[in-house]
Amino acid sequence: MGSSLIWSIRVRLTFWYAMTLAVILAVSALFSYHYFSHNLREQVDRQVREIARTLDQHHSEIIVASDGDQSCDGMESLTHSNNWGAYLLLRDASLQEICSSDNLVERALPFGPVARQQVRWLNEHMETVELANGELVRLISAPLVEDSRLLGVVQVAQELGPLQETIEELRLIYLVVGPFAIFWLCLGCWLLAERLIAPIIEVTEAAQGITADNLSRRLPLGNYQDELSQMVGCLNQMLDRLEKSFRRVRQFSGDASHELRTPLTILRGETEVTLRWAKTPEEFRDMLTSNMEEIDRMERIIESLLTLAKSEVGELSLEMKELSLSDLVQDLYLQSRLLCETKQIEVELLLEVEEEIRIRGDELRLRQMFLNLISNAIKYTPEGGRLEIGLKVLEDSAVISINDSGIGIPEEHLAHIFDRFYRVDKARNRMDGGTGLGLSIVKWIVEAHGGSIQVTSEVQKGSSFSVRLPLEGPEEGKHPKSTILV
Ligand code: ADP
Repeated sequence: MGSSLIWSIRVRLTFWYAMTLAVILAVSALFSYHYFSHNLREQVDRQVREIARTLDQHHSEIIVASDGDQSCDGMESLTHSNNWGAYLLLRDASLQEICSSDNLVERALPFGPVARQQVRWLNEHMETVELANGELVRLISAPLVEDSRLLGVVQVAQELGPLQETIEELRLIYLVVGPFAIFWLCLGCWLLAERLIAPIIEVTEAAQGITADNLSRRLPLGNYQDELSQMVGCLNQMLDRLEKSFRRVRQFSGDASHELRTPLTILRGETEVTLRWAKTPEEFRDMLTSNMEEIDRMERIIESLLTLAKSEVGELSLEMKELSLSDLVQDLYLQSRLLCETKQIEVELLLEVEEEIRIRGDELRLRQMFLNLISNAIKYTPEGGRLEIGLKVLEDSAVISINDSGIGIPEEHLAHIFDRFYRVDKARNRMDGGTGLGLSIVKWIVEAHGGSIQVTSEVQKGSSFSVRLPLEGPEEGKHPKSTILV
């Protein structure tokens, strides 16, 4: 399909080149043909007019009396001295022929009613006429005038034959040279189009060879800095992004299946062992209790995955309404105190605001997000540690911070902790019941509210998560970016 498309581009290019050239050639041929023929005719007209005028200037010599011989003598001597080759004819005032030049012996110059009328009105008359022998001539009939009185008429005619021949030759040249030129131009265009299209064919073939299995391949850039190279550059950048997305999707599905397989393997192992060895109802009860834990875990993973998947395709809408962030933070503080009791972690609330803070947001999702951060803080803080929950306003945002004095996060992991299934210490987090999805959901909820989240941490000293939420809520029509594909 690609090559037929390119073929058609080549055919179309050649066709349009040829058409344009043919039109240009035809127009210029027509123009020059008319220009030359008009010019040549003008030249003949000028000649006959010139002769008529000369005769008029010498009318006293040629119209001496009604004596025809004398008149002819005058005209003949003028013809010889000027070396005129034209046909000449002299008429008297009554328009009767007096004499004519030698070359008119067997010919007569016509003198039609229009010409007669014009000379009577003392005007010249120019026309193209065919002589009795079929010869085409340009003929002027000019009055010889003295004191507004018609003395006679001169008729001067010049053959159009040589002129006609020149014009015919010109037409022949155009008719022969035109198609010849168009043929060579088409051939040139065809070869030129091939050269122009060759890189497109190369890119098309390379693009056809790129599939999901070899997304690391790139299109050839070529040596030129032209539009095509720019397009290829853009396509290569798009392939970069696609490759990254594919890698992430693959990684994600691999991680997800791994996460779900682990509890399943545990379930199967425990069930097999119990079925083989357990005898008492207590032993079976123990197995079922342990199985319940794994089932809970799987449920949590699937629940979180579902939340993220729905957020990805925009099916998870937020119920935005005005809420009191101050009340929410105080509520979370009370809840944290209960959660921290078993680990004897001291919880402190730092309210750096003088009045109630109200924002636009989805209360349930915000609560879920803060509880995720708080439960992480508790999970990764040893017994007797500290947890601080802070609220303040910075410009047009509310800033909520959750600081702990826990194990901290090594710097090289900080950039990844919001990725799905990312855990700093894989074995340990599994034992803690972590799924590695909590912070991905936190990030999504924060961004869906038009906010941002930042983390700073020091190993063995503690971590600090700071969430910034715009007081006005998210801008209309803005959706958080997909965390898998981007
Ligand atoms: P998990 O369910 O494993 O806690 P999260 O997405 O919530 O997954 O967190 C990702 C990883 O970030 C955790 O596995 C943990 O290693 C690290 N982490 C998150 N919060 C903290 C914290 N407050 N202190 C130390 N490490 C943390």
